[in-house]
Amino acid sequence: MHAPVAPAVHGLDFETMNAARFVRDATYDGVFFIAVKTTGIYCRPVCRVRQPLTRNISFYPSAAACEKAGYRPCLKCRPESAPFCPAWNGTRTTVERACRLIDDGALDGDGTVEALASRCGVGARHLARLFQQHLGASPVAVAQTRRVQRAMKMIAHTQMPMTDIAHQAGFASLRRFNEVIAARYGRSPTALRKLRPHSVT
Ligand SMILES: [Zn+2]
Repeated sequence: MHAPVAPAVHGLDFETMNAARFVRDATYDGVFFIAVKTTGIYCRPVCRVRQPLTRNISFYPSAAACEKAGYRPCLKCRPESAPFCPAWNGTRTTVERACRLIDDGALDGDGTVEALASRCGVGARHLARLFQQHLGASPVAVAQTRRVQRAMKMIAHTQMPMTDIAHQAGFASLRRFNEVIAARYGRSPTALRKLRPHSVT
C-alpha cells in the first residue's frame, strides 16, 4: 500500500516538519502533508485530531503524493482546504505556473500534459520530472487530486446535484466522479455530504 521511500519534501528535514506539526504551524499548511501509517489517512499540519506518534508518520510534499502512496484524505482537516501548490523557496516557478494552470482546468477535458508543458515553456518530460522532484506526483495525478478537492468543497458547502458537481469539478462523467471519490474516501459522494462539514481554524 505505501511507497517504501517518501519523496523529498521541499528541502525540509524530518525534524523541522515534525516540530511544525506538533505546534500546528499554519506556515506549513499546503507545504507538506502528514501520512499516518497506522490509519492510512493523511492530514494537514494544522489538523486538530490527536497527534499520531512520530514513528507512525511520513511526510509528503503534496496531497497527490500521499494519495499515490495509498493514503486517504482526512475528513477532519480536509486537505482540499489547504493552499494548492504554495510558493516555497522561490525555486519552483515552472511548477507553480503549471499548478495554477491545472487549477484553472488545463488538464481537464481535452487538456494534455504536452499542451500544459508548452504553455510553461518546457517539454512534457521535463515538466514531469519537475513535478516528481517538487510534488512527488505526476501532473496527471495532481490534476486528479485537484478535481477531487474541487468536488469535495462543493459536496461539503453546496447543495448542488452530484451531476453538476462532477461536471464543474472537471470529471469526464458522473460515473468516473463516483469511482474516484469512492476510491479516495471509501464512501460515496452522497454519504460524504451527510457528514457535517468541518473547518480548521
Ligand atoms: Zn486531519
